[in-house]
Formats: sequence, structure tokens, C-alpha cells
Amino acid sequence: MTRFIFITGGVVSSLGKGMASAALGALLQARGYRVRLRKLDPYLNVDPGTISPTQHGEVFVTDDGAETDLDLGHYERFTGVCARRGDNVTTGRIYSNVLAKERRGDYLGNTVQVIPHVTNAIKDFATADVEDEDFVLCEIGGTVGDIESLPFLEAIRQLRNELGTDRTMMIHLTWLPWIPSAGELKTKPTQHSVKELLSAGIQPDLLMCRSDRPIPKAERDKIALFCNLRPEAVIPALDVDTIYQVPVAYHEQGLDVQVIRYFGLEEQAAPDLSRWHDVVSRVRSPEGEVTVAVVGKYTALLDSYKSLAEALVHGGIANNVRVKLAWIDSEIFEQPDTIQRLEGVQGILVPGGFGERGTDGKINAARFAREHDVPFLGICFGMQMATIEFARSVAGIPDANSSEFEPDLTDPLVGLMTQWKQGEEHFRRTRGSDLGGTMRLGSYECHILPGTRAHEIYGKTVISERHRHRYEVNIGYRERLEAAGLVFSGLSPDGVLPEIVEIPDLSWFVAVQFHPELKSRPFDPHPLFTSFVGAAVAKSRLV
Ligand code: GLN
Repeated sequence: MTRFIFITGGVVSSLGKGMASAALGALLQARGYRVRLRKLDPYLNVDPGTISPTQHGEVFVTDDGAETDLDLGHYERFTGVCARRGDNVTTGRIYSNVLAKERRGDYLGNTVQVIPHVTNAIKDFATADVEDEDFVLCEIGGTVGDIESLPFLEAIRQLRNELGTDRTMMIHLTWLPWIPSAGELKTKPTQHSVKELLSAGIQPDLLMCRSDRPIPKAERDKIALFCNLRPEAVIPALDVDTIYQVPVAYHEQGLDVQVIRYFGLEEQAAPDLSRWHDVVSRVRSPEGEVTVAVVGKYTALLDSYKSLAEALVHGGIANNVRVKLAWIDSEIFEQPDTIQRLEGVQGILVPGGFGERGTDGKINAARFAREHDVPFLGICFGMQMATIEFARSVAGIPDANSSEFEPDLTDPLVGLMTQWKQGEEHFRRTRGSDLGGTMRLGSYECHILPGTRAHEIYGKTVISERHRHRYEVNIGYRERLEAAGLVFSGLSPDGVLPEIVEIPDLSWFVAVQFHPELKSRPFDPHPLFTSFVGAAVAKSRLV
């Protein structure tokens, strides 16, 4: 019997609903339950794939090739459960499905309405594709009171009636602002938020109250009284110094015990949180520090590189060091006398990206890494730029470029694979004329050449990594580039798509077409990040 926990947010956005959901998932998992986490997003985009990363943050790609909300990254990192396409849905997708059915005549002449047609589609999504999970946690995006979340609240209200209180739980996350002039934490916004939820027909079963300081018992009692709850069901969710402390902190405040009791489940001994304690202590007391420069173009909103930042933390955990990140807008390196900013760093990373702006800066950063033998990791666009740099500076191909920004090139070193090989099987899932969903997306196998650094890093010759790109390094240039010293150490199984390149003459220079950061976990740091941070540590010892 799968139980459904719905998590809504109130008062303001950015309270960390995704993190709270992920942490609750981890706590239930630590008690031996099977969990799955889902996110329902109220915006009209069909998926976040076409939203600017500086508006919406990173697009998290699942194994099965869905472009999803970055919260799914938190869910995966905290529970280790790989998300699937069906774990993230938006209002846009729901409407597009409902409208397609309407056009096909599936509604048999009925008037199509928000209730019941849209709400039914939402309920179907929330409950679909459930296997043997004990708990499905559904986070509702947005804030209670938003016009656009109303159909979602209505759908979960109906689900609660249909499935009953023993199979559904409503958790509401709110905020208690501290008013300095009064010297008090204020509960009124929480009371109002619960009233708003009640007006949608939903009585929360548990409140998580975000606050930057301890919440006095009197205030918790007051919230309980006004919100029809037992005081134990008002859980303080206080700020912590590292996100990996969140499950531990919520456990200490009784979150998992309250959920278990609510469902009338047996309260075994305390959950085993030792791996969380271990990660937290490594994050809090590292033995050293290295600085890695991340040279990208979406540095204005660091959520654009959420998984990347986490994967670098994981690489630090594996090496017992703190990885300090220097976020640098690549356009800076297009100005004279700026590249020296890279002099003090022990590692340079050029991440994924789209479009021409800032590319020369990325190319200059890759050149600096190559010329100064600074450990370098290029990811996706970063691999494309590093390869162009190598082609121009070392392999004698001065006009090498990407057809992403110059359609008619003499030397299309990077291009749409279809430009040199039509009808390739790899584009099976990704062909189309729309901007959305026209990329090579999801997990693909890659074969690694034995004896290369990539082989040493992974310790195997067949790997699977997640992708999100349209363009590829052109395999036609392999011979010329290899003759100049760039090794193609990872290829698609048919040998057509370059997946990993490296410069064996340097101490650590690896670039990959896929996104390794999407698969890194705090308990299982990705080998590329472990090795890259290890190389940065070695570099720091040289100086
Ligand atoms: N813009 C490049 C492409 O489409 C790289 C994409 C990326 O870095 N995710 O191939």
C-alpha cells in the first residue's frame, strides 16, 4: 500500500521545499521504507528545457531523457533513487495532454473543464507509475495563494478524499520572519497561509516552520492552536550550515517520527543516519582547501549550476578538502589582462552552455589551463570549447569553430551530427523541428579506450552517462587532433560520437560531452570529480 505525502509551501517562495521533501525522503529511507519523489510545477512551459537557466536554474536531466526541475537533482542526491520522466510534470504538459485528447475527440463531446478534466490529469500523474514504493512524496511547486497552483490544490484535496487520511498526508512548509524591532518571531504569516490552504479545502497534518533561529515553545503552541494541530506536529525547520545537515536536523526535531505516527506505522528504533553524520563531518572539518574556477556564463544565478556545485562538494568530500568555487563570467576573459585571474586557482572547469556569448572567454580559459598545466575539466559545451582551442592553437586548424554560432564553416570542428552523418540512430529520440526536446537527452553508453586516463578514472571500459546537447565534436577531425596530442578516450559504442577527450601530456586535462555532475551523490562522489579535485589537491601541494 503506497502512501502519498503532499508538500505545499506558504508565505514566500525559496523556503527550500525541494530540500525539505528530499530530506524527508531520506529519513523515511533510513527507516527502511522505499520512497519516490515527484514534483508538480504550476507554470505553463511544457518542461523547463526551454527556460533560461538564469530564470529557472539548472535543467536536471533524468536517465530516461526528461528535462526536469532542479529539485529532482536534490531528490536523487538525497535518496539515490533515479528519477524518471514521470516524476516531474508542469501545468503546461497537463494542458497539452488534455488539449491533445480534446482534439482527438477522446472526451466524447463533453465540455472540457479545469474540474474535472485538468484535475483528473493531475491526479493521474501523481498516482501513476507507482511500483512497490511505501511512500510517494509529491512536492507542489509555487506558493499557496498563487492563482496557478489552484488546480493542483484541488486535485490533492480530491485525492485525500478518494484515498483516505490513512494513505495521504498534507505537509505545509511556512516561514516565521524575525522582526528585529519587536525582537520576535512572527507566526501571523503562517496562520494566514494555513487559512489560505483551508479555503482550498486542505487542513495540513503537519507544519514545517522555517526560521533563522529557534522557535520558542510558546510560539509553536500558538501556531498549533490557530492551525488545528497538535503542538508536536509543528516542526521547527531551522537554517543549517550545510544542506547535508538538513535530514539530521529535521530528525532531531521529530519530523520522521511524526510522519510514522501519523500513518500509524510501527516506530522502530531510531533511523540509521550515520552516513549523513559522516558526510556532514567531512564537509565541516576538511583537511585542506583548493580553489576551482568555474568559467561559465550563467554565473548570475548559481542555481544554474546546482548539480555541478554539488558534485564539486562531493569531489571535496572524497578528498577530504573544501572546494572553494570561484564563479567567473567567461566574458571577463575576453578583455585584455584578465586571464591572470586564473593564476591562483588549482583547477579550471568550463561547464555546459548554449550560444555564442562568452565563448572566446571559455576558449581562453581552456588555453590558460593547457599552457599552465592547471587541472582542467570541460563539460559538454566546455569539451567543445576545449577541443576548438586545441585545434586552433596546437593542431594547426585556425578556423576551427562550432556551427552552433557560424553555420557555414570551413572547419566545422563542432557541429550537428546530422551535418556529417544523416539519419544516425542516436538522434532517434531527439529529432524534431521544435526547440523543446530536440536534443540528445538522457543516458547513453560510452566505450572507454583502455590505458587512458579516463580508463584509470572510471576503472572500467563501458560507462553510462547523461547527455543534453545538440552539437558534437566532429569525429572527422580525430586523426589530425590525435596526431597533435589530443586523445579521444571515450566514444559512443558505434565509434561515431566523441564522448571524452584528454591530453595525456598534461597532469590532468579531461573533457567530456556528457554531464557527470548529474550522477554524483554525496555518498558516492562521481569518479571524474573525485579525480579532478584530487588533481587540484596535487597541484596545490606543488606550490
Ligand atoms: N550548446 C551545446 C550543444 O547544444 C552544448 C550544450 C551543453 O553544454 N549542455 O551541443
